[in-house]
Amino acid sequence: EEEGLGGEEYLFKVVIIGDSAVGKSNLLSRYARNEFNLNSKATIGVEFQTQSMLIDGKEVKAQIWDTAGQERFRAVTSAYYRGAVGALIVYDITRRTTFDSVVRWLDELNTHSDTTIARMLIGNKLDLANIRAVSVEEGKALAEAEGMFFMETSALDSTNVKTAFELVIREIYNTVS
Ligand code: GDP
Ligand code: MG
Repeated sequence: EEEGLGGEEYLFKVVIIGDSAVGKSNLLSRYARNEFNLNSKATIGVEFQTQSMLIDGKEVKAQIWDTAGQERFRAVTSAYYRGAVGALIVYDITRRTTFDSVVRWLDELNTHSDTTIARMLIGNKLDLANIRAVSVEEGKALAEAEGMFFMETSALDSTNVKTAFELVIREIYNTVS
């Protein structure tokens, strides 16, 4: 293929899953718009956001899907997962129950999508490390056992948010290009 003609296009669907109130919507708004909302309800309603990055001089777009709160009722539909090539599975490092749920979210992901290439486990709310209920080692161990990347983030102070999304997108690109 000739380079520099802009003929190649990459659009990857990435889904964010995890228990209610772990910070999914804020991770996306921090990444896509550099915004953070203390009131979680303010972020409800957006289906997905498209964010571009340059890799090897090519524009790579990620269509990143956020739940509109359906996870509260364990009612995330198969349409949500369909065609997803990347997934961020998020828990809150201050609430152990959200970490315990990760295996169930992985089951659901496996059931609804056989296309995921890159998966990242995210322990969010790193700014609250003084009241953490899940150790870094536990997060790492689970991610390793399940073949996922792992990172702790803070949507509040931005730590690792861009890094996490871009690592997933880069991994997908490297696999398909
Ligand atoms: P979602 O239900 O998983 O989409 O979670 P939200 O993004 O709506 O966030 C739930 C609550 O956690 C809100 O009050 C956010 O302000 C708060 N929150 C989200 N991310 C962080 C974070 O990194 N640190 C702290 N301290 N609070 C956060
Ligand atoms: Mg949300």
